[in-house]
Amino acid sequence: MLTHIMNGKVFDVRNNRLLDSDVIIRDGRIESVVSRGAGKAVLPEGAAAETIDASGCVVMPGFKNAHTHSSMTFFRSLADDLPLEAWLTEVIFPYEAKLTADDVYFGSLLAIMEYARNGITACQDMYFFQKEAIRAFVESGFRCVVNGSLTSNGSKDYDTQKEEEASYARIMDENEFFSAVSPLVSYAPGVHSTYTTSAHLMKGVSRALHDLKKGLFLHMNETAVEASTAFKKFGMYNLQYVDSLGMFDYGGGIFHGVHMQDVELAIMKEKKVGVALNPCSNAKLNSGAPDFDRYAEWGILTGIGTDGASSNNSLDFFKEMWTLQALNHIKFDKILSPKPHDIVKVATTGSAEFMRLGDSAYVEPGQNADLTMISINDANAIPFTDFCKYLVYSANVSNVRMTMVAGKVLYHDGKYNLPVGKDDIISQVESRLARIRSGK
Ligand SMILES: [Zn+2]
Repeated sequence: MLTHIMNGKVFDVRNNRLLDSDVIIRDGRIESVVSRGAGKAVLPEGAAAETIDASGCVVMPGFKNAHTHSSMTFFRSLADDLPLEAWLTEVIFPYEAKLTADDVYFGSLLAIMEYARNGITACQDMYFFQKEAIRAFVESGFRCVVNGSLTSNGSKDYDTQKEEEASYARIMDENEFFSAVSPLVSYAPGVHSTYTTSAHLMKGVSRALHDLKKGLFLHMNETAVEASTAFKKFGMYNLQYVDSLGMFDYGGGIFHGVHMQDVELAIMKEKKVGVALNPCSNAKLNSGAPDFDRYAEWGILTGIGTDGASSNNSLDFFKEMWTLQALNHIKFDKILSPKPHDIVKVATTGSAEFMRLGDSAYVEPGQNADLTMISINDANAIPFTDFCKYLVYSANVSNVRMTMVAGKVLYHDGKYNLPVGKDDIISQVESRLARIRSGK
């Protein structure tokens, strides 16, 4: 299948410039990027291409959501303005205990609808019932990295040899299943955090990581309490503990990373462990401000995630970019950094590299056609001076005109192309939430 995006501009992320270019897409991949108007000439003779008019728009790589819990869309605005520990233990965990696999399917569809609307083309998703979540992603044609989500919570074999064997087997099984399920799906071995996992569980996971030659992905030092509790418990800093188990021997990544020691950053640099920052969630839960510049100075691979919709409360990269910039200005009392282009790079190509999706990171030949189209002809874009400043400071989701994953248009000018209609997704989520809230 051929698609011809014409009449627009293309954002060259590497060099921070806009090109007057057409994009030709064949079977989900970008075949060529050519001068505006030259697209027709490079199409094979007689080929019928679907055309997308990008007049007044910029075609750019889609935002990559490097950390999320998609199905937590169910709990949006159910428990706002509580500190993290109370939010989790008093509200979220009891509600989550009532979730079914089918609930997760519809909660994931609601998230995918929001991702597509907001210019996001992939996510690294950590939650329960991941096979049902993946059904929603694959049916929708959305790209997903399944993040392992092991915890010891509720384990009857807590911190025993049996738990170690079970965690080893689960990582191996998940890796085999999710690596084969669809070209849109990949697998990142993961646990929830060090505070929800026993030593034996971690040992089993570490063995699996060495067999797979893959690194670990987990929440890390989201709050000051988490960081100081870990230090007391393990006799070393949180990330040092995970590294001491060999779990970063093949790289990996952490989510949040707000309260970090230099010794932890040194390990990240040495072991090529990345970080997915979650500025809106951190600000809303009063967890602290992620230090963008410090990670940049250490040369640590950095991406951005929204976290779940229950702690954010939207899945919106314009908000994430603006907040990350603003938090760094306030916390570190500086105005000249980070630069908008650095923020945009992290939201697109940085996240993609973090998620091992380097083949979906640029609008260039050979890359997956995971794109979004942003209007620069709306009131909030005028006068138009600089694309990255516009994205970070002025633009919002209303400027997203089209979102495409692997060449398939999922959203275009108010219309969704998803396996379940918008109204049906909404009514399913609302009726299912009513059941959960009634205690059933
Ligand atoms: Zn999270």
